[in-house]
Amino acid sequence: MSVIREKKVVIVGDGGVGKSQFVKRLSGFDFDPIYKTTLGVEVRPIVDRDCGIKYNIWDIAGKEKFDDRRVGYYKNSDIAIVMYSLDNKWTANSVSKWKQDIQKNCGNIKIYVVGNKIDCENKVEVESDFKVSCKTGFSIDDFMELIRE
Ligand code: GDP
Ligand code: MG
Repeated sequence: MSVIREKKVVIVGDGGVGKSQFVKRLSGFDFDPIYKTTLGVEVRPIVDRDCGIKYNIWDIAGKEKFDDRRVGYYKNSDIAIVMYSLDNKWTANSVSKWKQDIQKNCGNIKIYVVGNKIDCENKVEVESDFKVSCKTGFSIDDFMELIRE
């Protein structure tokens, strides 16, 4: 099926939780163990041929701070992913701040909370959300199924 619809997806969360690796995983790239701070924003298109949707995933970065510059990237988003790391409770504590930031700027769009690094020793427990590992690839394909809804 060819692309019939496009959706803008923003991914946010504290620095180092694995957002950039997640986006790479979704687009079929291999795990990259070398940390690279994302500068500005990277937009990666992912085409779901089964339902004809092209997701343009905006990996927002820089310092991942709550400032005004970042908010411009949120414009016209259809879906948001808020990521934290299961081995770092501070990143989990930030989830509610990121959710509020999205709600304030994007209104009532669908937000998926994703806990990454399930391969590590897990130090936080956040109920009923989605858990993945960009390192092993655990549950990455399931996430694509989830956002199809
Ligand atoms: P970002 O700052 O949120 O974009 O995070 P990155 O995608 O750059 O990843 C930060 C660091 O965490 C890198 O060193 C990655 O290799 C590592 N990392 C990402 N995902 C995983 C994972 O699932 N498991 C483990 N163990 N490390 C990961
Ligand atoms: Mg990044």
